[in-house]
Amino acid sequence: MTFQDLNISPIILKALAKENYKTPTPIQAQAIPAVLAGRDLLGCAQTGTGKTAAFSVPMIQLLNEQPPKPGMGRRIRALVLSPTRELALQISDNVKAYSQFTKLRSTAIVGGVSQKTQERALQQGADILIATPGRLIDLINQKHVDLQHVEILVLDEADRMLDMGFIHDVKRIIAKMPSKKQTLFFSATMPSEITQLVKTLLHNPVKVEITPVSSTAERIVQSVYLLETGSKQKQLNELLKDPSIASALVFTRTKRGADRVARGLNKVNITAQAIHGDKSQTSRQNALNNFKSGETRVLVATDIAARGIDIDELSHVINFNLPNIPETYVHRIGRTGRAGLSGTAISFCEVDEVPLLRDIEKLIGKSIPEVKDHAYPMSGSLRAAKVDQSPKSGSAKPGQAKSAAVRPAKPKADTTRKPKTDKARKPKSDAARDSSTNSPRKPKAEAVNNPYLEMARKLKSEAALNPKDGQARKRKSDGFKKGSKTGRSS
Ligand code: AMP
Repeated sequence: MTFQDLNISPIILKALAKENYKTPTPIQAQAIPAVLAGRDLLGCAQTGTGKTAAFSVPMIQLLNEQPPKPGMGRRIRALVLSPTRELALQISDNVKAYSQFTKLRSTAIVGGVSQKTQERALQQGADILIATPGRLIDLINQKHVDLQHVEILVLDEADRMLDMGFIHDVKRIIAKMPSKKQTLFFSATMPSEITQLVKTLLHNPVKVEITPVSSTAERIVQSVYLLETGSKQKQLNELLKDPSIASALVFTRTKRGADRVARGLNKVNITAQAIHGDKSQTSRQNALNNFKSGETRVLVATDIAARGIDIDELSHVINFNLPNIPETYVHRIGRTGRAGLSGTAISFCEVDEVPLLRDIEKLIGKSIPEVKDHAYPMSGSLRAAKVDQSPKSGSAKPGQAKSAAVRPAKPKADTTRKPKTDKARKPKSDAARDSSTNSPRKPKAEAVNNPYLEMARKLKSEAALNPKDGQARKRKSDGFKKGSKTGRSS
């Protein structure tokens, strides 16, 4: 199938060709005709599936076919709501790219940067607004934004909005729009509050469900270092002496931890920058741009700050701290090994984190091979007490892990430990919302319709079927091509 087959107008086809998009991804093939036909859409898909174009392309086409009436001025006719600034800016880049040959104008409204520039952009007029809820509410209250002419509403990552405490803001924003509009709704999971919102918001929606390309995680080579307490920074510095680690995204549990790790790397002349919610939007964007351009080798991030970031050719993900929620591990490692490339995920585990490691192994149904030959091993007695008693298999060389060993982990885990979840906090600001370190989503809610769980389940069943086969498999064709103009790839 080609984009022409989807009845996309030549002016947008030209832009897609310029972006080097040749074949629609599955979500695009399903969503574009439905949206062009004016239907509401309920999409269950993650970043990386091509969902931005799935909603933006038909949205742009519909708006372009009906230019504003002469003399009426430019009015906001489409609103895209996104939970994070990074995601909003990426959507904005994509919308600009896809609409570059039309007369439509779009602008992004996000927190963390000066409001003045955004006010000016709004005064000049925009057909499409891409926004995070917090700043949008501020601008609505100050009468800089009028949503009375919105014809198309896109809610992206609705479950994440719920997690981040945005859901009431979202409802208040929706109340400012006409009730008659086309709504495109995306959510990876369907907790009850989201189901409720879907019921009130969508009319007879077309449902599209896309699970991430499972081969992504299959191709990722995983390993773990069991470390003496307090030696993670030294181990990281040591690891990064290896020049084959071209770019690494390092995950820490806390914002301060991210700053500390970046400082520690800078001290040994490794270029690194931290990205988290306490940083201004400008410095986050700079850090991201420097990392994407290769100027900085290491980006240190908290989970929430990293969400929505799409980086080309990321070779390594390093878990400086293991996440409290095992699903978060699958999210993190899915950042590498994209676009048909292989990827490496390395985790550091101190004795306190062994139960977290066990939970992760239980979820993915594999023992993560341990790198044994390194400078800071966990002390023998701790190992004996905590590690050697529990099932583990496989080993890997330092720095260069072997493919994951795939003996299914014993279902018996440390039942005394409950995964910690961040308590839902009262929403304050975008930055405050970003202070959470792990997804506060409860594992229970994840059980329903979660593509990552789906991926984990798939891995688990494959591990059971092919206990010896830990080799990274070649990716099946998924219709994605690297090298898009927006600097993002699958
Ligand atoms: P998304 O899931 O929308 O964040 O898209 C993930 C990546 O795939 C982005 O870098 C897009 O530019 C890219 N992409 C989306 N659709 C296509 C397509 N049909 N062909 C090639 N690349 C695409």
